[in-house]
Amino acid sequence: MGAVDPTIDSAGSLSHRSTASASGTPSGSTSPANDAFDGLPGLPDRFGRALRDLRVSVTDRCNFRCGYCMPAEVFGRDFAFLPRSQVLDFEEVARLAAIFVRLGVRKLRITGGEPLVRRDLAVLIGYLAELRTPEGETVDLTLTTNGSALRPLASSLAAAGLQRVTVSLDSLDDAVFGAMNGVDFPVARVLDGISAARSAGLAPIKINTVVRRGVNEASVLPLVRWARDEGLVLRFIEYMDVGHSNGWRLDDVVPASEILALIDAELPLEPLVPGYRGEVAGRYRFRDGSGEVGVIASVTRPFCGDCTRARLSAEGHLYTCLFAVDGVDLKTPLRAAEPDAALEARIRAVWGARTDRYSELRSSATERLPKVEMFALGG
Ligand code: SAM
Ligand code: SF4
Ligand code: SF4
Repeated sequence: MGAVDPTIDSAGSLSHRSTASASGTPSGSTSPANDAFDGLPGLPDRFGRALRDLRVSVTDRCNFRCGYCMPAEVFGRDFAFLPRSQVLDFEEVARLAAIFVRLGVRKLRITGGEPLVRRDLAVLIGYLAELRTPEGETVDLTLTTNGSALRPLASSLAAAGLQRVTVSLDSLDDAVFGAMNGVDFPVARVLDGISAARSAGLAPIKINTVVRRGVNEASVLPLVRWARDEGLVLRFIEYMDVGHSNGWRLDDVVPASEILALIDAELPLEPLVPGYRGEVAGRYRFRDGSGEVGVIASVTRPFCGDCTRARLSAEGHLYTCLFAVDGVDLKTPLRAAEPDAALEARIRAVWGARTDRYSELRSSATERLPKVEMFALGG
């Protein structure tokens, strides 16, 4: 039987229709091979970069207050998060995702804010798991979470079709982790969530660690040893100047080269070849063959030339760069019952005109831009 394609009828309500691919829409058009990039299907932007990944933010809310993302002093009790009516519902997300998949997207990452605070998330996972590429393949379906609610939710998410998870964890030391997450959330509960994800078969599990100078550098080696022992894929992320509230300073960034040197001194490393074009993490294997570790050097070694990611915010705006100042509203036409072909044309036009390369251009001038917060546009 063909895949079930969630679509919305002209009255705006969801219907499920059987089709062999995500191309069963009025236009039925797909994206041809992008030979200039890697020969696979994927709509080219102005620099030839293929549209391959979509990050979907399902909420701008979060139960943590990580200082590098949503500092408590800025995002306090009175902060006005999006009202429910302004957030895309699951049918709307699924309909847009189907169009993106038709255009060449092969990886969907659910994010936020904290995606697990969105009620009934497994329903959305179920819709997205049913999508098929024009070649009839499933898409890579994953989720980034702070791990705090994985224990109760991991098995239902896996049952709905989630394939794997990335869990953010900045330290194994409670005092340091509490200082990083801003709400004194205990390490043990994240570890328990990771264990639940593992039992649910969500694999491979990746761990994201943001490193901040003077805050959690001493956590790097304990995390490396732990992840290696547990068979988890650890990625260190350079602290980035996302949004405009975290008070970012270049001095707070621990360069990936420094992180790698620290690890290499204890556990000798050698570089691995990238798995595919557009892979953001620089990957290294332990010379003793016991696993790998990665660094995402967005500040010191920008990778804009290979950036294949689009972001759909919780309120249905399309962003073509993590450091965007504004996005393109897809929710208004979607809610005005615009047909798929017209929505697809909008997405094609936005991606086709894309020239973003913020990290390559980063300077004192770009740092001051009124950028959209990462939790709002989908980290
Ligand atoms: N709440 C989820 C979480 O923390 O995993 C998903 C959303 S969060 C915005 C996605 C990722 O962005 C997390 O791994 C987080 O550590 C990372 N992040 C947030 N702010 C960052 C910053 N200023 N620099 C680098 N990474 C950042
Ligand atoms: Fe929340 Fe994730 Fe941002 Fe931390 S990084 S405040 S967990 S959205
Ligand atoms: Fe992609 Fe923008 Fe990041 Fe460059 S700065 S890698 S274009 S998201």
